[in-house]
Amino acid sequence: DPAWFDAIILGAGAAGLFCAAQAGAAGCRVLLIDHARRLAEKIRISGGGRCNFTNRELDTRAPQRHFISDNPNFCRSALSRFTPQHFVDLIERQGIAYHEKHKGQLFCDHRAQDIIEWLQAQCAAAGVQSWRPCTVLEIDTVTHQAQSGYGVRTSEGTAWASSLVVATGGLSIPKIGATDLGYRIARQFGVPLVAQRPGLVPLTFDAASWQPYVELAGLALPVEISVGAGRQRTAFLEDLLFTHRGLSGPAILQISNYWQAGMPLVIDLLPGQDVPALLLEAKQTSRKLLVNVLADHLPVRLAQALAGEDVLWQRAIDQVPDKALARLAERIQHWQLTPSGTEGYAKAEVTLGGVDTRALSSRSMECTQQPGLYFIGEVVDVTGWLGGYNFQWAWASAHACAEALAVQ
Ligand code: FAD
Repeated sequence: DPAWFDAIILGAGAAGLFCAAQAGAAGCRVLLIDHARRLAEKIRISGGGRCNFTNRELDTRAPQRHFISDNPNFCRSALSRFTPQHFVDLIERQGIAYHEKHKGQLFCDHRAQDIIEWLQAQCAAAGVQSWRPCTVLEIDTVTHQAQSGYGVRTSEGTAWASSLVVATGGLSIPKIGATDLGYRIARQFGVPLVAQRPGLVPLTFDAASWQPYVELAGLALPVEISVGAGRQRTAFLEDLLFTHRGLSGPAILQISNYWQAGMPLVIDLLPGQDVPALLLEAKQTSRKLLVNVLADHLPVRLAQALAGEDVLWQRAIDQVPDKALARLAERIQHWQLTPSGTEGYAKAEVTLGGVDTRALSSRSMECTQQPGLYFIGEVVDVTGWLGGYNFQWAWASAHACAEALAVQ
């Protein structure tokens, strides 16, 4: 008969490694399976090679405000039981040096590999067995000596376990090993899915409408960006980056999680400023070309592109009618534009949607209708903001699962 484990974990990424190490340390016999040649590539390339592993600004009393899910309150339980401070304590105990950047983001001082090596060492110390690279061929339920569980047939042999933990991540960056295995397993066991789409992703525009901005590629500036109206409005104050095909930068990545096809974005290029007053005042005191007035506040190339849109905006400011100035102010502070799409999974940092959390226990991540089957990390319909929130979900959901495995 195949070896019997307490848990087989599919996917040795952030969530799978952390769950294996914790369950193993609690005495579980764990088998960790991954098809990739190189371990935890996503951790290695994350945060520009320094892994933004969590975020200090995560609101532990209302963590759901940093996450997107069809079932918004689901993530509260795990995220409030395993907080950024819990992870920081582990990192500090290990002596991994880190620093805080923009908006509470914590990065390794040295390199992301420090985290991978630490997780790998924790797994080894906890006696976790590892099959890698290993192709998963078939999954089934099994019963052995009156014990029910799961059988996993792979390129390296077959293993059985009381619990099966799916930590195969999302669809982003297929080049480094992302697959839909987790969603296929969900379907096999009748676990519902929320439709998937790329998240934290650059947005694109059709070539004709983007033509006036192609020359701005490479330009970055701080903006306020929003989608939706009224109570549905979501806004971020972040940097916007122009690309050859559209827009990127933290502002766009953040808003892309909330953007749906057909929705317009609204961009304020001079957030926090009273642009109508600023233009009228300049008109009283200056004879400069309007484009030069704009260039006092905006990058020159952007000022030129804006002024080029209307003949009235190409004059000296004292020659521009008030109405035309008001139009320009509106154009600067309520720039409405509708993306045609995204750069897709090849460029997306995460995948929105996934295993429907209404089918899972928020305490343990176990499927309520399918005992012994767990989903953790990005494969679940919980997606975080840019800035360390996605790793924090991976750690917290893995921790919740490991605690449940430990008491079985
Ligand atoms: P993953 O870490 O993706 O692990 C899934 C594992 O499953 C992989 O090892 C994969 O090989 C394996 N697998 C998949 N399919 C199969 C299969 N069929 N058979 C066997 N094994 C399989 N988040 C942050 O919080 N901070 C950041 O700085 C950050 N930077 C990022 C930068 C980039 C470029 C990208 C793409 C993502 C970044 N993210 C960041 C997001 C973060 O990496 C993920 O949310 C996180 O890794 C999810 O953890 P996971 O364990 O669920 O999935």
